[in-house]
Amino acid sequence: MHRWEALQQECQNCTRCGLCQTRTNVVFGVGNPKADIMFIGEGPGEQEDLKGEPFVGPAGKLLDDMMSIIDLDRTKVYIANIVKCRPPRNRDPQQEEQEACVDYLYRQIGLVQPKLIVCLGRIAATRLIRPDFRITREHGTWSQINGIPHTAIYHPSALLRDVSKRPETFDDLLSIREKMKQLGICANEKT
Ligand code: URA
Repeated sequence: MHRWEALQQECQNCTRCGLCQTRTNVVFGVGNPKADIMFIGEGPGEQEDLKGEPFVGPAGKLLDDMMSIIDLDRTKVYIANIVKCRPPRNRDPQQEEQEACVDYLYRQIGLVQPKLIVCLGRIAATRLIRPDFRITREHGTWSQINGIPHTAIYHPSALLRDVSKRPETFDDLLSIREKMKQLGICANEKT
């Protein structure tokens, strides 16, 4: 079996943590597995759990709008989460749950081989960039992790709650577009 499908299958059957008992669907990811850019959220919410797809609720609509500012859409990026099953009542995923699950994400990153990774919010940034990453102070900054430039921007859910953060996020999106140019990533669909 192709490695991508094998990984997907493994995730579908996962019982590595307690979230498997309350999930409706495993939310593996969505988008183009050959993308140059990956967006990483924290974990599925209610609608994502029901549909089996990341960012399909109101935060997902805002994420689509944010991506469109820099000429991106779901055909051009790959979107996944730190944990693939919904934490009950949308609580933060616990450290043990993240540790049990993040290996799947690292394997996805290994197969997609993105040139750039965008963390959406604190949970993804502290897990993928640095445990003490401060999203309020360090959003929009760049770090090289395992040879791949990583940045973090506010989570779309935070931007729904607090619109005053949106201008800073607009600047962060422009910085992502600039980085794409530097790396020779074009926003055209990859096949
Ligand atoms: N929030 C996330 O972090 N991920 C989703 O898939 C949906 C909402």
